[in-house]
Amino acid sequence: AVTDPHAGSAAEIAFEGALRPSTLDEFVGQSKVRGQLKLLLTAATLQGRTPDHILLAGPPGLGKTTLSMIVAEETGKPLRMSSGPAIQHSGDLAAVLSSLTPGEVLFIDEIHRMARSAEEMLYLAMEDFRIDIMVGKGAGATSVPLELSPFTLVGATTRSGLLPNPLRDRFGFTAHLEFYATEELEQVVARAAALLGVDLASDGVHEIASRSRGTPRIANRLLRRVRDFALVHSERADISAVRGALELYDVDERGLDRLDRAVMETLLTRFAGGPVGLGTLSMSVGEEPETVESVVEPFLVRAGLIARTPRGRIATAEAWRHFGMAQPSS
Ligand code: ATP
Repeated sequence: AVTDPHAGSAAEIAFEGALRPSTLDEFVGQSKVRGQLKLLLTAATLQGRTPDHILLAGPPGLGKTTLSMIVAEETGKPLRMSSGPAIQHSGDLAAVLSSLTPGEVLFIDEIHRMARSAEEMLYLAMEDFRIDIMVGKGAGATSVPLELSPFTLVGATTRSGLLPNPLRDRFGFTAHLEFYATEELEQVVARAAALLGVDLASDGVHEIASRSRGTPRIANRLLRRVRDFALVHSERADISAVRGALELYDVDERGLDRLDRAVMETLLTRFAGGPVGLGTLSMSVGEEPETVESVVEPFLVRAGLIARTPRGRIATAEAWRHFGMAQPSS
């Protein structure tokens, strides 16, 4: 699986669950996607049919799982959760699909990692709510059609480019989730602080929001660290507790964490700012290329620190400035 370096422990995942908004109106930011989803769900309700299949694309921690829960909540139907890595044979998928109840929402996380044979089964299921089950082996094998209950598939992927076109085309709607603006993350942090009973002033809220890599999951994690810091040091959760926790947690003033910095420092020092290929860069920091490409790089590009060129990744002038190094003249 894509190792999300920010994924955290079981306790943190449970903590995350408690902070999930459960309706579209409570969901902060992503206003475009929210509006599009609202229209799609309302139209389906008015017509008394199941909503179109939905693909959610974007880096980890931006709210894909949360949105799938909201789709189920807003349609008043149950949610079934699965993931690409758990579907390694078409039989795994057939078992899930054949047990869905009418209107059920099926969430498949990391859908780009599903087995190829299952993908083909999914095409037919998405289009006609039907699958073909092979019975018997060899020359005597026959395919038996099986009718399914109508369902809504919500697929999530960090790499929509890896999805085969026939699968991508069967989604009625693709939402591209973007990193959140600081003001939006301020709302996420303020909401979470209120839910957790943490008394955090607006300067502290701002500081956490601006250092959370544009990602609600990270904002919630940092808030938890700040709460711990204040508790351990018997302080109020004020700006000094925020700064103390962020320093301890190795988050710099632009929100770059240890892995972000490792990638940048390697690019700047070992490769003189590039261009360097993704594989070489990933190997140098000891990470999977997929993690660097889908977790680290999107944020660094958005922060204006690296650029992708046909010859490889290069550090921008801003990157040299941020790391206090002189850009070599070429
Ligand atoms: P992954 O694909 O890695 O599972 P994800 O994109 O599915 O990540 P979620 O698990 O949905 O991300 O969200 C992570 C955390 O961020 C949750 O605690 C959720 O409550 C919070 N969160 C995400 N988006 C929002 C939002 N728009 N408003 C408030 N909280 C949010």
